[in-house]
Amino acid sequence: MKQHQKLLLGFILGVVGGLFAYYVLPVKAYPFMQFITEIFTLVGAIFLRLIFMVVIPLLFSALILGVFELGVGRGLGKVATKSITYTLLLSAIAVIIAITLTGILQPGAGMEFDKAALNTNQSVIAIQKNVEAVQGKPWYQFFVELLPQNPLDSAVRAFQGEIIALMFFALIFGYALSLTVKDAAANPLIQVFKTVFDASLKVIDFAMKLAPYGIFGIVFNTAYKLGAGFLQNVAFYALVVVIGLLIQQFIVYAFFLKTVGKTSPWEFFKACREVYVYAFSTASSNATLPVALEVSEKVLKLPPRISRFVLTIGASANQNGTALFEGVTVLFLAQVYGIDLSIQSQVLVVLMSILAGVGTAGVPGGSLPLIVVLLTQVGIPPEGIGLILGVDRFLDMCRTTLNVSGDLVISKLVSASVTEADLADEQTATPGIGA
Ligand code: ASP
Repeated sequence: MKQHQKLLLGFILGVVGGLFAYYVLPVKAYPFMQFITEIFTLVGAIFLRLIFMVVIPLLFSALILGVFELGVGRGLGKVATKSITYTLLLSAIAVIIAITLTGILQPGAGMEFDKAALNTNQSVIAIQKNVEAVQGKPWYQFFVELLPQNPLDSAVRAFQGEIIALMFFALIFGYALSLTVKDAAANPLIQVFKTVFDASLKVIDFAMKLAPYGIFGIVFNTAYKLGAGFLQNVAFYALVVVIGLLIQQFIVYAFFLKTVGKTSPWEFFKACREVYVYAFSTASSNATLPVALEVSEKVLKLPPRISRFVLTIGASANQNGTALFEGVTVLFLAQVYGIDLSIQSQVLVVLMSILAGVGTAGVPGGSLPLIVVLLTQVGIPPEGIGLILGVDRFLDMCRTTLNVSGDLVISKLVSASVTEADLADEQTATPGIGA
């Protein structure tokens, strides 16, 4: 059985088992059920700990490599600057759509339950206190604290609201590395970060092996405590993600293609359909990269130099679908847990979702570790992801399609705004990039 089928099965069995216990078992507080729910809580908690454990090395190495590979410091000039500008702009729009839609539609509203029972991670209480402490500070302090005073200290207190400072440190350090390291293949530090990144992803793989059981436990507990009502909320949440993705694709991308790209959005989307099918079925930007490269050169006829650069980097550093999905998920779970996110917390969600787009691996479920981090930063129990993992494969297929579509759109936008002369200049400045 494939991994995503196991996740779905864990979700379905959790729902069926939990509902059986809720509706059929005569005495709900039956002591035996107490024991069963504790066992499942344990499995769910181990699954989460495995993810937490590697979040710091994973995120840190991914961000450093992401910025390093962008090669800003190597004088990539217009192609890189424009790619980064469009990446940040389109990601920000995606997260704002996510927050607005979820705020208006409220898919997580009305789930009444014993919140403490779903929260096995005591640190969240400390985080909540931290969030409250932040809210009492002057507004500019928020920006000051985006930079760490001591990155090691920020790493230690990462789950008490400090991870954003660590992320900024990684960005600046990655940029500095791109100014100093000339030959990435021969540089030991870059190789160390690559190895740390790969090994951290392996640990996430281990966690994913446990995920079907963790999901089973979390969903079982939820269904047992809430009855069937929560399923409606989960379905509504999935719908909100899909609506958001459609708005980004057919309104935002269409607008930019028409105005900046000077092309018919419909024709453009039609020409990309093979890439969409591939991205949808693999749920992996990395796996879709070869097809995206071929379509951009042969069908869209974009300059290979631009599309190679944008698509190769974009496969792991430009993920609008993921950013949008993260925004909706965080707000949905905040609603589920009845947590009111302050404006500062919402700004934090926007910033972190954009950065998360850079730090997410282009593989199925790549955004999972980042969702866990994001939740803890704004004081939401990370166990909440158990509620959404059952539908995640489908949403992953949808968001990956938008991720790859966004890369192609940016290739087109950059191609439309960079002249042949700019390209000729950069040809000499950046040998080997995107090859
Ligand atoms: N599967 C996504 C991708 O490859 C990443 C994620 O959002 O999980 O683009």
